[in-house]
Amino acid sequence: MYDVAIVGAGFTGLLAGSLLAKEGYRVAVFERNSFVGGRAATRTPKEWGWAEREDYRVDFGHHVFATNSYLEFILDRVGAKRHFKFVPLNMPYFYKNGRLHKPPVGFLEQLRAYPWIPLRSKLRLRKFLSYVEKVSFGEVMEKWAYRPLEELYDEFGFDENARELFTDGFVAGYQTIIDTERNSAGDLILCMKAYLRGIKRYKTPLFSAEGGVGAIAEALRKTIEENGGEVHLGTNVTEIIVENGEAKGLKVGEKTIQAKRVLFAAPVYYLLRLIKEGNLPEEFAERLIEGEKEATNLFLIIGGAKRPLTEKPIGTWIMAPRSEVKNVDSYYLIYEVSPELKQAPEGNYPLSIAVLADEKTNKKELAKKMVADLEALFPNFDFENDWDWKAEVMFPIVDGIGRTIDWYWERRLGPETPIKNLYVAGDSAQELSSGVDGCASSALFAIEAIIGRKLLDLEEFYRL
Ligand SMILES: Cc1cc2nc3c(=O)[nH]c(=O)nc-3n(C[C@H](O)[C@H](O)[C@H](O)COP(=O)(O)OP(=O)(O)OC[C@H]3O[C@@H](n4cnc5c(N)ncnc54)[C@H](O)[C@@H]3O)c2cc1C
Repeated sequence: MYDVAIVGAGFTGLLAGSLLAKEGYRVAVFERNSFVGGRAATRTPKEWGWAEREDYRVDFGHHVFATNSYLEFILDRVGAKRHFKFVPLNMPYFYKNGRLHKPPVGFLEQLRAYPWIPLRSKLRLRKFLSYVEKVSFGEVMEKWAYRPLEELYDEFGFDENARELFTDGFVAGYQTIIDTERNSAGDLILCMKAYLRGIKRYKTPLFSAEGGVGAIAEALRKTIEENGGEVHLGTNVTEIIVENGEAKGLKVGEKTIQAKRVLFAAPVYYLLRLIKEGNLPEEFAERLIEGEKEATNLFLIIGGAKRPLTEKPIGTWIMAPRSEVKNVDSYYLIYEVSPELKQAPEGNYPLSIAVLADEKTNKKELAKKMVADLEALFPNFDFENDWDWKAEVMFPIVDGIGRTIDWYWERRLGPETPIKNLYVAGDSAQELSSGVDGCASSALFAIEAIIGRKLLDLEEFYRL
């Protein structure tokens, strides 16, 4: 009998498992894949099915993480950093008027940066930044959590330039969908606070690991095992056993696993396939069905580049706004992986270019349009011949549920469910950040609910 059985060894399951094992709980994680890390694992292009190459280590799609936020809080707490090399990355860039622009740090840099933005507008941005620094967590949630970005921009008098910088620059990097009528203003403020926390500690908001982000998943697996927990790979959970409204354990094929509590750490709507119909309360089932429709997706051209995009290696993300491209109605997220991460043979660079796209979009057509846009942005790079290998991939679940005002914070699912002793965590459950950092926040909230005490004071955490 386990204290907690966790379904899924993506980052959520591994972070939750490592926290519980450290707290002395008897924990086991069950993962159907033969590897850990889920949607943020690192494997060879051949293993992903993208190209016949085994000399690269590529993150699923593309991945960078937020420094000094929830994820790092847990990595520090469970001692996982001993098992991988933490690599801060360069500051991300914003592409505008044919140039790359580094986000400014400090008052003077803020005045000099982004030369196309008028001074008056820069001063308004500065006022917004000082609000972000000072506002308490409680006030953000009370005032902004369920209001759209548009209202925040209006309140601070953002002009078109400032709106673009945030929407297609900052928000694009953090929130995946950018619908200023639907994305939460509170989410933007908290993500900005996380960004400033990262800069404070490392002078950059981004990090990765040598060998790719999957190395962090492996490190978490080690910490679980070091603390007496178990991680079972290649183990497909076929049912969550529910009796009289209470979770009792799992079915793995013919085998029954007994557990006092079950934590589901994959997109929550997968529960629809894992809990027998009569055992899933109707209202909860309906919410899961609604949530599934809100998953966000991205289309990526991904590959190994034989040379950097510009004269010198960039080693970080570039956000290019819609106004800089002609052929695709999306911002572009471009990531050239730093050689320091050792994910490619010497002289080559894993490179990915992402746009928002519908699952029904014709992939070949879209890729062609993207190349036409990219040739104008990066004239030094030959998008036909400078690839060592290349794939075009649609990723249907980037955020389990997008963080729109209808699904933000307490409007998301979990960590408790109407089924006693069944908890949910991950990027479709209650979270306060984005991507893997959001998963880390949700793992924390789930563990707090399970152990019955707080591990993190949110007011303190967001005080800058
Ligand atoms: C293209 C792309 C780019 C992204 N970029 C970033 C980024 O740059 N930064 C960032 O922070 N985030 C990024 N994300 C988001 C991030 O990858 C996810 O938020 C995060 O990895 C989700 O982790 P998770 O553990 O909650 O879920 P998952 O990673 O999906 O893990 C769930 C695990 O559960 C397993 N599982 C499911 N059902 C069962 C079952 N029945 N039995 C056993 N096991 C089961 C799955 O195999 C999987 O391993 C990106 C995502 C994509 C797709």
